[in-house]
Amino acid sequence: MKPTAVAEVCSEVRASQTLHVVGSGTKSSFETPIEAETSLEMSGISGVLAYSPEDRFIDVYAGTTIVELQQILKERGQALAIPDSCEFGALLAGVPGTVGGLVSMNLPHALNSQCGGPREWVLGLTAVRANGDLIYGGGRVVKNVAGYNVHRLFVGARGTLGVIVSVVLRVYPIAAIPHPSCERVREWNSGDPLAIQRVLPTDWDEARRNVSDRLFSCDRSSSTLWYAPAEASDIRFKNDWMIYANRQTGNLVDFSPNTQMLMTATKNQLDLFKKFNPGALGCV
Ligand SMILES: Cc1cc2nc3c(=O)[nH]c(=O)nc-3n(C[C@H](O)[C@H](O)[C@H](O)COP(=O)(O)OP(=O)(O)OC[C@H]3O[C@@H](n4cnc5c(N)ncnc54)[C@H](O)[C@@H]3O)c2cc1C
Repeated sequence: MKPTAVAEVCSEVRASQTLHVVGSGTKSSFETPIEAETSLEMSGISGVLAYSPEDRFIDVYAGTTIVELQQILKERGQALAIPDSCEFGALLAGVPGTVGGLVSMNLPHALNSQCGGPREWVLGLTAVRANGDLIYGGGRVVKNVAGYNVHRLFVGARGTLGVIVSVVLRVYPIAAIPHPSCERVREWNSGDPLAIQRVLPTDWDEARRNVSDRLFSCDRSSSTLWYAPAEASDIRFKNDWMIYANRQTGNLVDFSPNTQMLMTATKNQLDLFKKFNPGALGCV
């Protein structure tokens, strides 16, 4: 189902037992199989709700594509601080990926260490919760929350907490966006297995050496490696972070018991009956 209005999303959420939320599907290779009654494709709801170049924010519908968004911002000399898709190919860009997908995946990118990522750019958002009601979090200014940054829970949640319908994003003057520090080693074919690993700076040399013959790209400034996984020889480092795509044995890495407990508690508050993307993050 591809709604074209927010009210349709609310009705569909109310009526469905389980939903697979989809933007444009460009990051499906990172997903675990999701079995849901309804597929809710959000790319039909796009466009700008508000844009203030002077205040450096834009409020857009979640189905707006990154390419559309960058085009609108470019006219006012601004941009979202992600690298141009042609600079890093399929590894970083998913065309025509949506804003909702970008926020829900929160993947590393080539300007991470210099400009932050979706977690820093999302100033606020509106989402549909499991009972079909709209919820709002954050706002349009940078420091806008006195209590919990509830809207940030949705960043990287892979659609497991609700359907994001609009997002307020912080934007940058193009002139202030530095050149990406990422090194492009060889091309990744988007159907091939991929591992993304982020380590502590003190483990960088060893981590890079370990995957040097399998490397697609790397960024020393954020200690991030993109490479072809080779199960037995993939070394985990203390305090590292890891994510996979197109992997035979599945794309999820086990969460610690403490993390699982917190994720389950959060899921139970926002989506008690596991309506959204069931199993997308394993324990939730
Ligand atoms: C020019 C350009 C540069 C890019 N640079 C980078 C980069 O540097 N790094 C990078 O990682 N990516 C980059 N991308 C890719 C882009 O971030 C993602 O591919 C894209 O935004 C994912 O969107 P999608 O709609 O295809 O997501 P999908 O594959 O459809 O969904 C991804 C996940 O998000 C969830 N989801 C999607 N929409 C919603 C919603 N509305 N509410 C709740 N959950 C939702 C889905 O359930 C799924 O779990 C770039 C893309 C472009 C066009």
